[in-house]
Amino acid sequence: MARAAVPGRLTWQAATVAATRAETATARTLVLDVDGWTGHVPGQHVDVRLTAPDGYTAYRSYSISSAPGPDWLEVTVQAVTDGEVSPYLVDVAEPGDQLEIRGPLGGWFVRRPADPRPALLIGGGSGVAPLMSMVRAAMNPTRLLYSTRSPSDALFTSDLATARAAGDGLVAVTHVYTRVAPPGWPAPPRRLDADALSRVAWPRDADAVAFVCGPTGFVETVADLLVDIGHDPANIRTERFGPTGG
Ligand SMILES: Cc1cc2nc3c(=O)[nH]c(=O)nc-3n(C[C@H](O)[C@H](O)[C@H](O)COP(=O)(O)OP(=O)(O)OC[C@H]3O[C@@H](n4cnc5c(N)ncnc54)[C@H](O)[C@@H]3O)c2cc1C
Repeated sequence: MARAAVPGRLTWQAATVAATRAETATARTLVLDVDGWTGHVPGQHVDVRLTAPDGYTAYRSYSISSAPGPDWLEVTVQAVTDGEVSPYLVDVAEPGDQLEIRGPLGGWFVRRPADPRPALLIGGGSGVAPLMSMVRAAMNPTRLLYSTRSPSDALFTSDLATARAAGDGLVAVTHVYTRVAPPGWPAPPRRLDADALSRVAWPRDADAVAFVCGPTGFVETVADLLVDIGHDPANIRTERFGPTGG
């Protein structure tokens, strides 16, 4: 008996740019309307495909930065100088434009909101994008350590302040600046080190899960440091924002 094709996570679907929001001078959030979108688990990503008028296509992976929900999602893109896809998404795409997406993708770097274990989220640069989805959906204690070069490079500044001030104490946010710190900041700019991690890490007996996301070097360094300070390696999940697609 012939079976009808069932659209799945690997099927390209039309997505309409519903709105855009500048996050920094070089990064932007795109709100995408997708018919039939049923939601995602925080941490998952989509592939975004662009098609030029001559039919040439290119796709790249982008983490979903919004909380789970039907019909729409958000991705937050940092422009990579001379990149093929990211400068288009940051500087050119506008409301009404059509893209294609497939997903949600990824089953390991995910935090189910009802998971009772405390979480330590550590993001470098645009690696905070999937962690922002986890923060937005958090139902259990969550600490975010966010490393950027300077305050003006930080994404989601006001959303993170709102999450921190939500009043229930569920979400704690700590910023680390590697090159330029704000005036009066208590610590000089520096790379994330064991000392900074120890200050935000959960106690060893807390059964915490760590999620580390960012450029490959950042992720590898932080994962090693977590093990050095006593975090169970089995409870460290990583995502590297390396080049993707074609
Ligand atoms: C699972 C996953 C999730 C991702 N989520 C996000 C996200 O939420 N937000 C986001 O901004 N990016 C994310 N990325 C990175 C994204 O997929 C692209 O790699 C990035 O946007 C660059 O694409 P491009 O076409 O502009 O550059 P390309 O044309 O592919 O590359 C141009 C040049 O930049 C270098 N390059 C490529 N990617 C990067 C990078 N990430 N950092 C530094 N240099 C790079 C290439 O080696 C090349 O030299 C994610 C990647 C993965 C694998």
